[in-house]
Amino acid sequence: MNDFIYHALPSRVVFGAGSLRHLERELDLLGLKRALVLSTPQQRAQAEAIAARLGARAAGVFADAVMHVPLAVAREARAVAERVGADCALAVGGGSTTGLGKAIALDSGLPVIAIPTTYAGSEMTPIYGITDDGIKKTGRDARVLPKTVIYDPELTLSLPTSISVTSGINAIAHAAEALYSQDANPITSMMAEEGIRALASSLPCIVRRPTDLAARGDALYGAWLCGAVLGAVGMALHHKLCHTLGGSFNLPHAETHTIVLPHALAYNRDAAPDAMRRIARALGASDAAQGAYDLAKANGAPVSLREIGLRESDLDTALDIALRNPYWNPRPIERAPLAALLRDAYEGRRPT
Ligand code: NAD
Repeated sequence: MNDFIYHALPSRVVFGAGSLRHLERELDLLGLKRALVLSTPQQRAQAEAIAARLGARAAGVFADAVMHVPLAVAREARAVAERVGADCALAVGGGSTTGLGKAIALDSGLPVIAIPTTYAGSEMTPIYGITDDGIKKTGRDARVLPKTVIYDPELTLSLPTSISVTSGINAIAHAAEALYSQDANPITSMMAEEGIRALASSLPCIVRRPTDLAARGDALYGAWLCGAVLGAVGMALHHKLCHTLGGSFNLPHAETHTIVLPHALAYNRDAAPDAMRRIARALGASDAAQGAYDLAKANGAPVSLREIGLRESDLDTALDIALRNPYWNPRPIERAPLAALLRDAYEGRRPT
């Protein structure tokens, strides 16, 4: 056993079908009395239903969360929280909504309670992102880590299968990179492998039957584990590339992760053999990169950057941006192989 450091993050998780019923108890435990309920416009009805059951303990509903937390939206939400006298942000939704809760917390120090309804995993991390003028800035701050997370698979039954698959593979990407992270340790690696396994086995069941509550529970459990390792150890090439592509070309987050992952794994294949073996085993495949590609393709997810709107003429710019800021990766980041990776992802080729 090698030496390692494991830093546990302080959050409380309440897991189970129907666990939304514990919301009032969880607010009581934290001494919270006026929650501002956050959601995207698409989930307004869900947020309003939760606010209605909270009654006087809901300070209001702010249903304007959007992808990548634009600064203007974050400022508006902070102003609303102050105006209505909220004592916490209650984020009901995916990574976009949790991200808005974090942006409120960053400035105001208000605690965040998260009720995740996708598999993105943001609720388990102290990582925030705010986009200003087309540039997404991310950082880590202990204040933004949700104090309590309520995982209720019943709330994910309505998640469309297409988003279920891409956000599930987004979660798998956190765990895959955690397995070859510079600061990987036996605890996070165990969680990462189990997280990949839970998602890889449940996503096909969800595609076949979106209301399969047991599969929804397994996927949400996997998402929790994958989010936790994202919060605990550093990421590498895959996450940096997706950040570049999403931020610079406004590509959808979960789809971008789904498309790039097989190619990032192929890039790192020979530099991280033990991690690749564990990823492949968790995917039930003989090769990690091919297993990630097949999981996406077999479940109807996009496999090429072209089909989600990247233009061929953007590839050179993407390459330049990706090479601009050096970062750690198990294999050195070099222009020619990275150009080939981007080309493969653009075309949607199965990794060889
Ligand atoms: P999202 O939150 O944008 O949700 C996608 C869509 O699905 C939205 O319209 C949403 O309202 C809808 N939706 C969510 N749950 C639903 C449900 N149960 N039923 C019906 N519709 C539902 O997408 P996402 O992939 O969860 O999050 C992406 C964002 O999260 C990105 O901005 C990304 O950068 C961020 N993120 C951050 C971290 C972090 O640690 N900070 C981690 C992962 C992702």
